[in-house]
Amino acid sequence: MTEPTTNSHIERAYRARTPRSAALYGRARQSIPAGLTHDSRTLLPYPIYASKAAGSRKWDVDGNEYVDYFGGHGALLLGHGHASVIAAVARQLELGTHWGAAHELEVAWAELVARLIGCAERVRFTASGTEASHLALRLARAFTGKRKVIRFVGHFHGWHDGVAAGGMSHFHGGVPAGILPGLVEETLLLPVDDLERVARTLEAANDVAAMVLEPSGASWGQVPLPPGFLASVRALSRQHGVLLIFDEVITGFRWSRGGAQGRFGVAPDLCILAKILAGGLPGGAVAGRADILDQLDAGAAAAAKREKIGHQGTFNANPLSAAAGVAMLSRLQHEDLCAVAERTAAELRHGLTQVLIEEAVPWGIYGEASAFLIFPNPKRLAIDPARFDPLALGFEGLKGARNPELCYRLRLAMLANGVDIMGAPGGLVSAVHGPDDVARTLEAFRTAVRWLKSEGDV
Ligand code: PMP
Repeated sequence: MTEPTTNSHIERAYRARTPRSAALYGRARQSIPAGLTHDSRTLLPYPIYASKAAGSRKWDVDGNEYVDYFGGHGALLLGHGHASVIAAVARQLELGTHWGAAHELEVAWAELVARLIGCAERVRFTASGTEASHLALRLARAFTGKRKVIRFVGHFHGWHDGVAAGGMSHFHGGVPAGILPGLVEETLLLPVDDLERVARTLEAANDVAAMVLEPSGASWGQVPLPPGFLASVRALSRQHGVLLIFDEVITGFRWSRGGAQGRFGVAPDLCILAKILAGGLPGGAVAGRADILDQLDAGAAAAAKREKIGHQGTFNANPLSAAAGVAMLSRLQHEDLCAVAERTAAELRHGLTQVLIEEAVPWGIYGEASAFLIFPNPKRLAIDPARFDPLALGFEGLKGARNPELCYRLRLAMLANGVDIMGAPGGLVSAVHGPDDVARTLEAFRTAVRWLKSEGDV
């Protein structure tokens, strides 16, 4: 177990409130590597252990209440335990959790996706976003008969081998341990702030199957895209016969009901979906052009003189996830929950910026749609929070400069004041966050930055 050896007020305040979490972390480390089941949940000296959640809030094992912006890693547009989702899943539990058969809910689920997402002529479900990313690249390579994939520095597409390099590490090239060098060579990793280079790469290489990117910019907008980028890559991909894949795992059903492609009016050939798609349960999907997805259909593939592409997965469109997904997307179809969440996020971004101005903290607040991001200025640049421009910093200044320790300390200070943000640092707002959540968050942030200032972090 981690020994409390700190003279930091922030860490002491956090530890004083969370002894049961500390004990669980000590136990977890005996059986679980790093005591954690997802790298993004890393928090030192130890994370909180959650025990229940409702709406915009969650509670830890010590009984502390938090305004929650982790939001199930972005999966919870309706907050925790929304009545419509609970009812659908509870009903399904009684009827069967896995029928090992086709079922009506998966049909309804696919129809809802097709109605909401512009490019979705066909939909194939997977068990996660990572699996959907894996399938999308397989489909693209098979369809074009080409090998290489253009990806962008810091854009995350799940943890499978084909996208491991350059997503969360090895941003400047290199082969992550455990990954085949040959796979890394099949990726052309490019920066987003050099469209000329994208064009040159496409001209020089005749073996590119697809370009894949987060249409929000890396990590749901932590590194925003230059203006016009999406339209430009759409034009370039058409010009060179390369498929364009949007990874809408976060932006799908969030950047707008029709995802980032709906918000920006740029249609990819394929998109990768997960998170909100399955209403808070596990699930993913590839959606897109029928001619590409129909490679999964033996008859259609034969008719098109193509090889049928294999795709299995025990929990694809499992009845529980399908029930939650149908409940979620049916509501979204009738009510613009994205706009509701976005309004709250805009208030939050404004309020957080005001706190920085009033407290004379040279950080920046930014973000799009229902996301907010905090730039904690690890290199102590001269920043005016009223005029913060993340585009001017680019990847190197934003995600590339991220200082994990500073982010942990900000998170600890926020947790000690009753707010759970994500490690970026930042968060995703749901449609059930309201004015009381915003007020509590602003108060917590003011206290947190004062604490960080007094400990020399600002
Ligand atoms: N792509 C993006 C943009 C993501 O944010 C994530 C998850 N954070 C994934 C892919 C992977 O999805 P999953 O965690 O469901 O495998």
